[in-house]
Amino acid sequence: MIKIHFLGVRGSTPCCDSRYSQYGGHTSCVLVEANDQLYIFDAGSGIINASAIGLNHPDKLTNLFFSHVHLDHMMGLPFYFPFWKPDHHINIHAGSLARYGGIESFLKRILCEPLFPVPFTAFPAQIVCSDFVAGHEHIFGAVSISTFELNHPNGAVAYRLNFNGKSVCYVTDHEHGDNANRDGLIEFIRGTDVFIYDSSYDDNNYANYKGWGHSTWQEALRLGNDAQVVKTAIFHHDPHNTDEKMVDVEAAVLAFSEKGFVTRQGMVLTI
Ligand SMILES: [Zn+2]
Ligand SMILES: [Zn+2]
Repeated sequence: MIKIHFLGVRGSTPCCDSRYSQYGGHTSCVLVEANDQLYIFDAGSGIINASAIGLNHPDKLTNLFFSHVHLDHMMGLPFYFPFWKPDHHINIHAGSLARYGGIESFLKRILCEPLFPVPFTAFPAQIVCSDFVAGHEHIFGAVSISTFELNHPNGAVAYRLNFNGKSVCYVTDHEHGDNANRDGLIEFIRGTDVFIYDSSYDDNNYANYKGWGHSTWQEALRLGNDAQVVKTAIFHHDPHNTDEKMVDVEAAVLAFSEKGFVTRQGMVLTI
């Protein structure tokens, strides 16, 4: 069994006013429970709501994976409470930072005074940082996590977590089109149970944002169909899309494909 918690589903910036109360305003964070272990994908502002699960985990162990470290994917990092507990272990993984000196050096550079009063090196938890090259598989006991390079400014990496015949794919931030390896991505996500995809825009307004590194909900559903996935999760909602707009997006998604669904903050899926 895999349990997926959608803790932050918004792209680019948190959206905090009442116009976002139905779908949620926290930025990217998805927590996956598999084989009694915690796997967190991205540390957007939504990771704040992962704290209770992390603090209560019997092993006091969190595996944190960055798709990349644009602000909306890392701004919540110091507010994941297990970082402040000396008996907690946090393993941080990133595959897009080799050309920037690696994840550890990046976190040391950015989490320091005067941006934040406690330097990264002073966090009480036992933290191990590791970098990898996308395209390989990582084994965590009975759980395997494979990786795939995405098309995004400064780079980004997709993840596929496999456990006991079930799988979930976390694919954000990514722009489809000429520079994307679409065939490779289809093979990467083929047959997965839940395909989470960067659906910032739609096919009608995408031309206004070409080159920004994001995709559309229609492309999510086309990819899902081409790769015969079970469910396609519309994710990384544009901050312009208030609840009023998201209701329309959700209706259009369901009309396009019964296999699609729009993620909401707080949604939990078990597969
Ligand atoms: Zn993003
Ligand atoms: Zn990004």
